[in-house]
Amino acid sequence: MAEHEHVRVAVIGAGFGGLGAAVRLRREGVTDFVVLERAGSVGGTWRDNSYPGCACDVPSHLYSFSFAPNPDWPRTFSGQRHIRAYLEHVTDAFGLRPHIRFGAEVKRMTWDDERLWWEIETGGGRLTADVVVSAAGPLSEPRIPDVPGLDSFPGKVFHSARWDHDCDLTGKRVAVIGTGASAIQIVPAIQPRVGRLTLFQRTPAWVMPRADRAIGPAERALHRALPLTTRLRRGLLWGVRELQVQAFTRYPDHLAVVERLARWNMARAVKDPALRAKLTPDYRIGCKRILLSNDYYPALARPNVDVVAGGLAEVRGSTLIASDGSEAEADAIVFGTGFHVTDMPIAERVVGAGGRTLAETWRDGMEALRGASAAGFPNWMTIIGPNTGLGNSSMILMIESQLNYLADYLRRLDALGGRAALDARPEAVRAWNRRVQERMRRTVWNTGGCTSWYLDANGRNTTVWPGTTSEFRRATRRVDLTEYRVLRPPAGRNVPADAGTGAGAGTGTEKAGVAA
Ligand code: NAP
Repeated sequence: MAEHEHVRVAVIGAGFGGLGAAVRLRREGVTDFVVLERAGSVGGTWRDNSYPGCACDVPSHLYSFSFAPNPDWPRTFSGQRHIRAYLEHVTDAFGLRPHIRFGAEVKRMTWDDERLWWEIETGGGRLTADVVVSAAGPLSEPRIPDVPGLDSFPGKVFHSARWDHDCDLTGKRVAVIGTGASAIQIVPAIQPRVGRLTLFQRTPAWVMPRADRAIGPAERALHRALPLTTRLRRGLLWGVRELQVQAFTRYPDHLAVVERLARWNMARAVKDPALRAKLTPDYRIGCKRILLSNDYYPALARPNVDVVAGGLAEVRGSTLIASDGSEAEADAIVFGTGFHVTDMPIAERVVGAGGRTLAETWRDGMEALRGASAAGFPNWMTIIGPNTGLGNSSMILMIESQLNYLADYLRRLDALGGRAALDARPEAVRAWNRRVQERMRRTVWNTGGCTSWYLDANGRNTTVWPGTTSEFRRATRRVDLTEYRVLRPPAGRNVPADAGTGAGAGTGTEKAGVAA
C-alpha cells in the first residue's frame, strides 16, 4: 500500500479566495492545510489577466482584504500589476508560502464515504483531505466562442486572459471580439499603436466615467500614520455601494438616472451620430455589469477604429465575417469573450457521494447552500460559489463572508468530536435557492432586457447575490447544523487515528503518513 499525504484542509487555488482561506485557516489555528495551485505563482485571475490596460473597477481600498489594508495604493483604482503585487505581499506577510503547492493542478477529487475524506489527484501527486475548499474562481477558464473557420486564420489568436506578450501588434490590423470589461480596457490601450482596429460588438455596453486618480504621497502618509483613516475610507466606499444595491435588486427603474449620465459620457466623446447609435444599448443599465472608462469612447472615435455592430460569425482565412454580414481583414484576433462562469469547469472533476460528479448534479444549473455547500458533496465547499457574485461592489467582501462560514464549519466539525463530515441536506439547499430566486425576480439582472454571463443556459441567474453584502454577511456568520446531515464512518471501519480526527489544529503541512 502506498503512503500518501493527508491534510485537514485542501484549498484549491491561490487567488484572492484561496489566499484568503489560507490566512483564515491559520488565524483559526489550523496549520495542517495545503493550497493547491496549478500555476507557478499566486494571484489567480490577477496573475492570468496581464492584458494591456488591465485594471480593477472597484476602488483599491475596498478591493483588498479588510485584514490586510494597504495604505500605499498608488491610485484610487488599481492596475493589475499593483493588485498582483498586493497578493504576493499578502502571501509573504501571512507566511503562506510553505502551504502552497505550485504546479499542482487538481485533476480529480473523489469523496470516500467510508473514510470520510477526499482523495485528490493533482499534477504534483496524490493526497487526501478531510475538507476541501474550492477557490478555483469563476474567472479562471477563458471562453472562446466556437467560430466556424477560426482554424483557417493565419495570424495570431489569443484570449484576453492569455495575452501573448511576444506578439507585437504595432501597425497590425487587429480584431477585438467582445465589449465586456476586458475588451473595453484593451481597446484604448492598443488603439494608438495598431494600424487598424476592428471591434466586433455583439451587444453595446453601458459605460460610465471612471473617477480614477493618483493617490498622492501626503494622502498615503496620512493612511500610514493613522490606519483608522484607511478603514474610514474603506467604510465610506462600502457604505455608498451598499446604499446603491436596492436600485439593482428592487427598483431597476431608478437606474434610468444613471443611464442619462452614461449617455452623456458617450456623447461628449463620440460626435458621429451613426457611431453613437451603434454604441447605444437597448437594455436597462446594470442588467450587464456597468463598465467604467474615460478612454474607451474616445478611442472608438479615432480614425483607425471601426465598430462592427455584430458578433464574429465566421472566419475565412484572414477575413472576419460579422453576423451583420460585414467583413474585415485582420492580422491578429484578440478574444475578450469572457469565461466559463455558470458551467464552473472544476465541477467536472469533483466526484461526490455515490460517484456523481458536481457537474452532473448541477446539470440544470448551479446551486449551493449559502453559496458554499452542495448536497452529496460532504465537507466540500466553494468560495465565490453560486449566487455570491456582486453587480456593484467588491467581491472581497463576499469572499470574507464565505471565510467566516468556513471557519464556523470547521469549528462545528471539531465540536462534533471523532471523525465526522457534514453533508448539506437537499431540502435546505432547495429552500435557500428558492429564496434567492424569489428575490431575483425583481432585479435588474433578470428584468433589464439583456442576456449576460450572470444567467446560465436555462436563463437562471446562478451567479449574483440579490441583496446587500451585509445581508450575505449575516447569512453566512454561522453554520446552521439543522441544514446538514452529520456523517460518521460506517461501524467497524478502522480509520487511522492521525488521519484527520476532525479534532482541530494540525502540526503543519508535514505528511501524516497514512496508509491507503
Ligand atoms: P464578459 O463580460 O463575459 O464579456 C464577453 C464579451 O464577449 C461580451 O461583450 C460578449 O457579447 C462578447 N462575445 C462573446 N462571443 C462573441 C462573439 N462571437 N462575437 C462578438 N462578441 C462576442 O467578459 P470579460 O470582459 O472578460 O469580463 C468578465 C468579467 O471579468 C467581468 O464582468 C468582471 O467581473 C471581470 N472583469 C473586471 C474588470 C474590471 O474590474 N475592470 C476587467 C475585466 C474583467 P454579449 O454581450 O453579446 O454576450
